[in-house]
Amino acid sequence: MEAPLLDTFGRLHDNLRISVTDKCNIRCFYCMPEEGVKFMPKPEILSFEEMERFVRIAVRLGVRKIRLTGGEPLVRKDLPVLIRKIAAIEGIEDIALTTNAVLLAEQAEGLHDAGLRRLNIHLDTLDRERFRQITRRDDFERVMAGIDAAQRVGFQKLKINVVAVKNLIEPDIVPMARFGRERGIEIRYIEFMPLDSQGLWSRAGVLVQDRIIAMLEREIGPLDEIPDRDPRAPATEYAFRDGIGRVGFVSSVSHPFCLNCNRIRLTSDGKLRYCLFAIDETDVKGLLRDGSSDERIMEVIRETVRAKWIGHEINTAKFVPPPRPMYAIGG
Ligand code: SAM
Ligand code: SF4
Repeated sequence: MEAPLLDTFGRLHDNLRISVTDKCNIRCFYCMPEEGVKFMPKPEILSFEEMERFVRIAVRLGVRKIRLTGGEPLVRKDLPVLIRKIAAIEGIEDIALTTNAVLLAEQAEGLHDAGLRRLNIHLDTLDRERFRQITRRDDFERVMAGIDAAQRVGFQKLKINVVAVKNLIEPDIVPMARFGRERGIEIRYIEFMPLDSQGLWSRAGVLVQDRIIAMLEREIGPLDEIPDRDPRAPATEYAFRDGIGRVGFVSSVSHPFCLNCNRIRLTSDGKLRYCLFAIDETDVKGLLRDGSSDERIMEVIRETVRAKWIGHEINTAKFVPPPRPMYAIGG
């Protein structure tokens, strides 16, 4: 048994996010520019076999949870093949996927059959025209069909991610929570983070957790924070006091949770990152392709985790956004 992945602040890392592609089929303004995105050439992208090998090595270091993300993971051909490979690795306890759901109606059954059980769907609004403005694509109906299909094939604990951008998303906050209550889906409000590719982010542009809670309590009813949740989960969760439904908050700006972080990230072009906001990253693809041993790769994972900083500095003047935007890291 290898020693677990501890950083110099005593945080244990058992959670790996893998971005399976940087490509996306929509263009959310807080993530991608509308035109002219340069995606990585195919040979730069890790194969499923390379990702599987990396996961096998990471499992030896104590990784237990995997989340697949993108870009948009469902644009990667044959994703269920990768899910099957990962699900078969002894030691993996949980596989989740984050998707914009545009292609989910066609793929939900195949994903479920492959062993996927947890899905986070990204949808900011129930209004088709607002969806088009935010994503610069007219795919609202397809996303709704994707949500229906996911529930039909048996995904139980669906979550929906809403990116909380101030002076934009306010009209959607309450309708999304109501939709979640009706459909048994937890709505997660994610504070707008400085990871957009066009440098649009400003602190004033973040709709913060406390404001959202006030809106929900005023329009729907009291919320109670859920006790005993996993302290290392990034979201703070609340239940409506009437017993119908939950909401969650990923509040990287107003309530940073770096001290509980248990995550490392592998990008689709094979770079290992110790933080969403990290400037430095470690090349793993080269090692996966040059005949390096599993032990060498293990050592490189350890070194990356040992180099991890105490936390991001969004709230200080020192903050420098990472050179990679959200779609090339994976969220
Ligand atoms: N395409 C998939 C999707 O949209 O869910 C997976 C990748 S996307 C980068 C992962 C998550 O990042 C999305 O669910 C979205 O909620 C979130 N996101 C994207 N840009 C963001 C930003 N600038 N600030 C906060 N969250 C953001
Ligand atoms: Fe695509 Fe997801 Fe980024 Fe939206 S947030 S542009 S769906 S990668």
